[in-house]
Amino acid sequence: MIDEKLEAAHAEVLRRNPGEAEFHQAVREVLECVGPVIAKRPELAREKIIQRICEPERQLIFRVPWQDDRGEVQINRGFRVEFNSALGPFKGGLRFHPSVNLGIVKFLGFEQTFKNALTGMPIGGAKGGADFDPKGRSDDEIMRFCQSFMTELYRHIGEHTDVPAGDIGVGTREIGFLFGQYKRITNRYESGVLTGKGVAWGGALVRTEATGYGIAYFVDEMLRVRGETIAGKTCVVSGSGNVAIYAIDKIHQLGGHVVACSDSDGVVFDPYGIDLAVLRQVKEAERRRMSDYIAYRPRATLRAPGSIWQIPCQIALPCATQNELDGRDAAMLIENGVLAVAEGANMPATPEAVRAFLTAGVAFGPGKAANAGGVATSALEMQQNASRDSWTFEYTEKRLAAIMAKIHALCFETAERFGSPGNYVMGANITSFERVATTMVALGLT
Ligand code: GLU
Repeated sequence: MIDEKLEAAHAEVLRRNPGEAEFHQAVREVLECVGPVIAKRPELAREKIIQRICEPERQLIFRVPWQDDRGEVQINRGFRVEFNSALGPFKGGLRFHPSVNLGIVKFLGFEQTFKNALTGMPIGGAKGGADFDPKGRSDDEIMRFCQSFMTELYRHIGEHTDVPAGDIGVGTREIGFLFGQYKRITNRYESGVLTGKGVAWGGALVRTEATGYGIAYFVDEMLRVRGETIAGKTCVVSGSGNVAIYAIDKIHQLGGHVVACSDSDGVVFDPYGIDLAVLRQVKEAERRRMSDYIAYRPRATLRAPGSIWQIPCQIALPCATQNELDGRDAAMLIENGVLAVAEGANMPATPEAVRAFLTAGVAFGPGKAANAGGVATSALEMQQNASRDSWTFEYTEKRLAAIMAKIHALCFETAERFGSPGNYVMGANITSFERVATTMVALGLT
């Protein structure tokens, strides 16, 4: 429920952003949590912090023309929503996927603002991308697309202004093409303008693994306060991209047993445990489909897309995309005895699913907290770039683990302080909102 004092501001967001369902969903989740903060701090209402925080500082939409391998002209739409720069330069990934539109980018940028605040690092929030479908495109086509995208974007970004990174459809290969074009146009080797770079050209060790590793650390913390561990638990991870792969890796390292993952082709169920080497070969090296995994693993089976939450497990990690786990999926997981659920993707659980987990007493880690390890390590990459230094894998991973433990502790303590013990959704939204709001007041009317 949204506090009645916030109803007018909420109605205004709906009215001014028609048809943007995901953005509405993300805003609603935050507004449902922050009523008690507004009640305690009248200056936030006076300064219209809710209205300001829900309005992006700047929204860019641009044409991305490029030529495919047959010489045919293609036109895509590019976006960058610079949501909030109170705590630092705009920061957040780029998503290349046919589903990308302004509403999706706004929901992601809004979420990113709070996630980044939760890391405690000096980074504001943004998101961007294009409705470009990289599936089946050659390296040359990807390069031409990235070059065209950057030919417009370069004028809006910079190490102290806005620092993009990857998201769905954007990994080290794409960041390389984007960075190369930025360097060429600006005549500057400005390492800190993008994160997720290759290690040979300014990237940080652990950035590739960071989101997935961070989720496993967060789950470990949630279970620890309940007197449990990951060791020996059966786990299901949706998706099979960068986030899913390294979540599986760390869950295995911590003694958990991941039996399923997925892509849009279907769900792979591998009762002997997902073979990470095979998964990485098929998805990372060869960029092929989940159905190709089966060929290497005779005991594994391919099930229908969307059926992953029917597999009994104690730990469930939705790491694919928004709204991939609904109320019915949540009911099934609860019936099968799930203990912990953590969002690896951004907003993968619908509001009904979140409510069901919280009501059933399942340890539920919202994306803003559970998947913040990726962007936190991006901030560590920015630190290394600023000092022209590069840290070891061990040191960087230690920093990541400490950041995740701190985020967990903050969310846990805030939830207790506001009378909702164990509710990490409340904890994450209140902690991050307080940080952004307090700084916005300090910086005056901007
Ligand atoms: N796209 C990632 C996220 O959702 C990473 C953003 C970044 O590293 O800037 O947090």
